[in-house]
Amino acid sequence: MKSYMKSFQLEGRVALVTGGARGLGRVIAEALADAGAKVALTARSEESAKLAASEIAQQFSAKTLGLSADVTRPEDVENMVAQTIATFGRLDILVNNAGINIRGPIETLAIDDWDAVINANLKSAWLGCRAVVPVMKAQKWGRIINLSSMMADISMPDRTPYSASKGGMSAMTRSLSLELAACGITVNNLCPGPFATEINTPLLNDPEVNSRVVGKIPMARWGNPKELGPVAIFLASEASSFMTGASLTIDGGYSAQ
Ligand code: NAD
Repeated sequence: MKSYMKSFQLEGRVALVTGGARGLGRVIAEALADAGAKVALTARSEESAKLAASEIAQQFSAKTLGLSADVTRPEDVENMVAQTIATFGRLDILVNNAGINIRGPIETLAIDDWDAVINANLKSAWLGCRAVVPVMKAQKWGRIINLSSMMADISMPDRTPYSASKGGMSAMTRSLSLELAACGITVNNLCPGPFATEINTPLLNDPEVNSRVVGKIPMARWGNPKELGPVAIFLASEASSFMTGASLTIDGGYSAQ
């Protein structure tokens, strides 16, 4: 009988993680490398990307590549895919992780704030999918993991652009999963709840806001980014072979309330 545990292994697979130099993207890049994948990761700064890639290579005895890319720019997205394939010969797993949040009441937000969040969170993922689909179709195998959010389905005040971007991402994932279901390519949303990373610095640094956030989490704590690693391996591997167009929420129980 085939081993169940082997289905989580990523030997021979090549992954590309956007925004992989820090935060959740860094953990996902580490986890995929730990499971045996060759991993390309991007950051806007080439220096940060190369540093993170070399640290992961050392820590996990993995082959890695650090690339600079602004994922809102179509030419950068095409280039990160082309460079990954030029280096590793294929591309099996795309993790659309890069993203931002600009919070505020609607009447104080600028149109540029809306554009910045939608472009960084939603357009970027669409561009990434568009760039990898022909490659994955030719290979007849692919995994696309979109970092959506619990905020795609529930929300908070002062999050209009962010919630809209993540709701859009979840809907885009469902549509694309149907386009690709017969091609050996799965497309799923990974939906974190509150994790202690830089994107949440304004909440983490304000003791009153911080205790209000923690008070709403049934597990009464922020998520540790490392808790996302095993989930990413599941979505990137053969282990999730019959799962597509789905959303996996990891939020300490927040959205169960
Ligand atoms: P983070 O701020 O630590 O990391 C975000 C990464 O995206 C950074 O590396 C940043 O440089 C990169 N990035 C942003 N805009 C970019 C651009 N235009 N081009 C290239 N890179 C860009 O935050 P994080 O918590 O690690 O967030 C990762 C993803 O997870 C985001 O999509 C975020 O919306 C999502 N998410 C996070 C949480 C959370 O609580 N931390 C919850 C739900 C969803």
